[in-house]
Amino acid sequence: LKVTILGAGSATPSLLRNPSAQLLTDDHESYLIDCGEGTQFQLLKLKAKTSRIKNIFITHLHGDHFFGLIGLISSFNLAHRTEPLTIFGPKGLDEIITLQLKYASTFLHFKLTFVEVNVKNNYNLIDNERITVSTIPLDHRIPCCGFLFSEKPKLRNLIKEKLPTSISINEMRLLKEGKNVFDIDNSIKYNFKTLTIEPSPAKKYAYCSDTAFLPKIVEIIDGSDALYHEATFTNELLDRANFTHHSTAAQAGEIAKLANVKKLLIGHFSSRYLDLDVNLKEAKSVFNNTEIAIEGGTYLI
Ligand SMILES: [Zn+2]
Ligand SMILES: [Zn+2]
Repeated sequence: LKVTILGAGSATPSLLRNPSAQLLTDDHESYLIDCGEGTQFQLLKLKAKTSRIKNIFITHLHGDHFFGLIGLISSFNLAHRTEPLTIFGPKGLDEIITLQLKYASTFLHFKLTFVEVNVKNNYNLIDNERITVSTIPLDHRIPCCGFLFSEKPKLRNLIKEKLPTSISINEMRLLKEGKNVFDIDNSIKYNFKTLTIEPSPAKKYAYCSDTAFLPKIVEIIDGSDALYHEATFTNELLDRANFTHHSTAAQAGEIAKLANVKKLLIGHFSSRYLDLDVNLKEAKSVFNNTEIAIEGGTYLI
């Protein structure tokens, strides 16, 4: 599991940073999280495979988190996309996008589905054999939630060179599940320990933007391998953070520490910060394993 940062700025436009968007990628697909203005150009620049994007998650309806959506959808259509696309977002998003498409007389070649997210509850939006995606209710000026991506335990990997040619698909399946295959006389025919190796561990990634300092999210994101937490301000502007329902770098560090995560990425920086040394230093003073979410950067979860 890895995440590529497409935008790590906040609402005021800046030449240094793009508004919020991230691409989370596993072996099977890519999940787009938030879609600020210009996200499609970031995807182009980074040569991202957009056909792998099947699900988009929008945290809230402030423009810096979804103004890129109509552009992206329109461009998918121009590129003759046929794969269905599902967009998870708060109440109102369906209406906004549908109205834009309607007055542009745009008829989509692909199936577009909106799933209205109840941002107040913590529940699963996706639950399949590979991953669960659940909501993280946040505290912002308008309804807003983050998203938690939790991989399911993976199957063991077969050591192809060691496999007998006569082995059946069912037998391979058992070995991948960590079970031995038995002969009719109950002796072990194939031992999973000698024919497979441990899979890579299942990972957990939490995305929390935008939010005031909210310690109660800790129980949801506890033990995540990586946490992206907004850090719009530094502590010097704590009053401003409280007033606008945003967090400071130190508060992001505090959440990471309380939740016992392995790594913290901070972003959603106010355009007033030109270089981010102070922001990083402040978060690190509370939680040492912190990194700045650098645009174009890819981080292994
Ligand atoms: Zn924002
Ligand atoms: Zn916001």
